[in-house]
Amino acid sequence: MRAILTYHSIDPSGSPISLSASTFDRHVRWLRSGRVRVLTVEDLLAAPPADDAVAITFDDGFANFGEMAAPRLADAGLPSTLFVVTDHVGRTNAWGGVPTQGIPHLPLLGWDALGRLSEQGVTIGAHTRTHPDLTTTDAARARDELRGSADAIERALGRRPGVFAYPFGGLNREIAALAATEFRWSCTTEFAAVGAAVLHERVPRLDAYYFQRIADRHLDAAAEAGQDLEEHAVGGWRRVDQVHATAARGLRGLHADQVRLEVRADQGERVGGRVTAGGRRAAPLKDHRGGVAGDAVAAGPGVAAASGASA
Ligand SMILES: [Zn+2]
Repeated sequence: MRAILTYHSIDPSGSPISLSASTFDRHVRWLRSGRVRVLTVEDLLAAPPADDAVAITFDDGFANFGEMAAPRLADAGLPSTLFVVTDHVGRTNAWGGVPTQGIPHLPLLGWDALGRLSEQGVTIGAHTRTHPDLTTTDAARARDELRGSADAIERALGRRPGVFAYPFGGLNREIAALAATEFRWSCTTEFAAVGAAVLHERVPRLDAYYFQRIADRHLDAAAEAGQDLEEHAVGGWRRVDQVHATAARGLRGLHADQVRLEVRADQGERVGGRVTAGGRRAAPLKDHRGGVAGDAVAAGPGVAAASGASA
């Protein structure tokens, strides 16, 4: 299976965009174990579909990528891609100056730091100029957000980005067509492994936030059983196949935000849930921006399934 992992911020807040340093360390320990090849996004998408390979991506360009993630990844010899919001470089993730409920405002890397990371082999991809939901902008603004961000990266770093990530995963047919004119590959938040027939403008990813519970569950089980932690981490990876299979069985539209909410519900957070016919919990879903996005169903231990559309 080929899959692209999405990370945002390595910080202790526990927010939907955050992973703790200790959880990230566990991910790195497994990713460097050699059980799966870790490639750049472009190499992964060029690899045979049957390969077991992963690409690591970080959205938004947080300063903590430079402080926490990049040194660990470099030490492990793992390539990564960082999607930056060019008008916000050196500022914060307060997109549009509007606070987002539950999302911490954190500093973003400046161009000097991005230049150093680029020289160290980190791929710098585009994530628009100002991080809008592109489905809410007109065509001229959308084109400016896409092309303008590529221009800014090329001006600052001397290399035009070939990869892009849609803010909030927001895209429609028009936006996808625009992105295809500007970038070789455009990444979504659709929660799926990379299939054999991946579209250049609709590359799915797996949000790593989801894997902290899997990792913890397996590590806890390992501690109880006194078994090899790494074996269990591999088991965690294999569960992705189950998630993917669940999605393929007609539960399409499994988005990272839905999975997050299911995870939070599972951790005991009050989310106004209700119980469905099968005795499984369903809850109204909120995306990053606080909008209700659909229904989530806890489909079994470690596997989240969702129905309904998400932004
Ligand atoms: Zn983003």
